[in-house]
Amino acid sequence: MTDPAALAQRKMQFLFALRSKGVTDQAVLTAMERIDRGPFVRGLFSERAYEDTPLPIACGQTISQPSVVGLMTQALDVSPRDKVLEVGTGSGYQAAILSQLARRVYTVDRHKRLVREARAIFEAMDLANITAFSSDGSFGLPDQAPFDRIIVTAAAEDPPGPLLQQLKVGGIMVVPVGQSDSVQSLIRVRRHEAGFDYDEMRPVRFVPLVEGLAPDS
Ligand code: SAH
Repeated sequence: MTDPAALAQRKMQFLFALRSKGVTDQAVLTAMERIDRGPFVRGLFSERAYEDTPLPIACGQTISQPSVVGLMTQALDVSPRDKVLEVGTGSGYQAAILSQLARRVYTVDRHKRLVREARAIFEAMDLANITAFSSDGSFGLPDQAPFDRIIVTAAAEDPPGPLLQQLKVGGIMVVPVGQSDSVQSLIRVRRHEAGFDYDEMRPVRFVPLVEGLAPDS
């Protein structure tokens, strides 16, 4: 067991690292201060939960680097009335951060096990405004569409068409775009009356968006 003083120190460093990498939005920083990354990282890697690094989770996936979570959340510009869709629940960490900023968060993952484990953490943390489903997120979530904000946390070769269609006019989508085995670009898409604006933000590296539900895990 780590002693409380050392833990408090690590959490301070965690917030400092976020700020120094450009996460400056106070609401995002407050959300990231409130949501402990510890419970989302299991086993061997839990010791490293407060490092600004991506870490392995179950099903061969990864929990994203905290500063990237912060920058993506900031770029999404979420307001308290927003309904948000996340594609790629993974550990559930990004959805938990969003739950502090949005009215309602829907999150989907193709791995049932990840969805099950993330739901258990949401319940334990009392994050009642998140709904997690197992489904292929490249089709979005037609029953709940349209969304004010969409965040994709797996890399697609292009922003998936159904997700663009499920974005409200005035809405924002953040998505890593590019080949899965190389560096991708984080893109911010804004929908307006006449179409879409694309804005390239920074290079990132995400696991690929894969078609179809994963075999039972
Ligand atoms: N946001 C996560 C990290 C996501 S890792 C976190 O905060 O921990 C990317 C996730 O996308 C993986 O869990 C992977 O299973 C999921 N994924 C990949 N393709 C998908 C698809 N088509 N539909 C839904 N989820 C997908």
